[in-house]
Amino acid sequence: MLAGILISAAAMTAIVAVRYVLSSGGFAWATSRVRPGLYRGLEPQIRKEIGWSLASAAIYGIPAGVVAWGWQEHGWTRIYTDWSAFPLWYLPLSVLAYLAAHDTWFYWTHRLMHRPKPFRIAHAVHHASRPPTAWAAMSFHPWEAVTGAVVIPALVFVVPIHVAMLGLVLTIMTVMGVTNHMGWEMFPRWLVHSRLGEWLITASHHQRHHDLYKCNYGLYFRVWDKLCGTDRGLARP
Ligand SMILES: [Zn+2]
Ligand SMILES: [Zn+2]
Repeated sequence: MLAGILISAAAMTAIVAVRYVLSSGGFAWATSRVRPGLYRGLEPQIRKEIGWSLASAAIYGIPAGVVAWGWQEHGWTRIYTDWSAFPLWYLPLSVLAYLAAHDTWFYWTHRLMHRPKPFRIAHAVHHASRPPTAWAAMSFHPWEAVTGAVVIPALVFVVPIHVAMLGLVLTIMTVMGVTNHMGWEMFPRWLVHSRLGEWLITASHHQRHHDLYKCNYGLYFRVWDKLCGTDRGLARP
């Protein structure tokens, strides 16, 4: 049993690490094409971002691996594989529910981490990237990584989700985590500056958080920032 858990945790850590290297590496490469020289002189910072991110990969991989093992071996969690187990309209709703729950958790823990003591102990690592790069996607102090790593493994026990929709949630999480830090906006202006864009977080929004600190705390949506008066709009294009 213990061997099974350890293997699952190690495998999940490897998957998270490879996912990080491929996604951050891919968008860093895209950056070198779209904005040549944007990361010039940032090599020492990038080395630190990669180091913290790989440590975070283990912190994310362990709870995910334990839960994946329990799902396979003991039927833990509410992850389902039968498409007809819930009505089809539930598929997009479950994705939205996961994103909204993660966003809410992130907003409040992130705000808390901007208080002086937690900032000094943990969150300063993430803000040491000035400006952040595509490699900063998982650049967190271990304490901060723990707060992020438990969210999805906890949600799968509460909110039913099809395994493919869970894959979609993880893909959105990965892509937005990288692109929000890469230093340029990949989404078209017509979307970012649209009525819908008013409620979504992309690089233009999160970049402002890294510039100004005390605003734009959200992860996917601007709902909490707007409700709490912490939304300071978008960075200059
Ligand atoms: Zn950030
Ligand atoms: Zn912050």
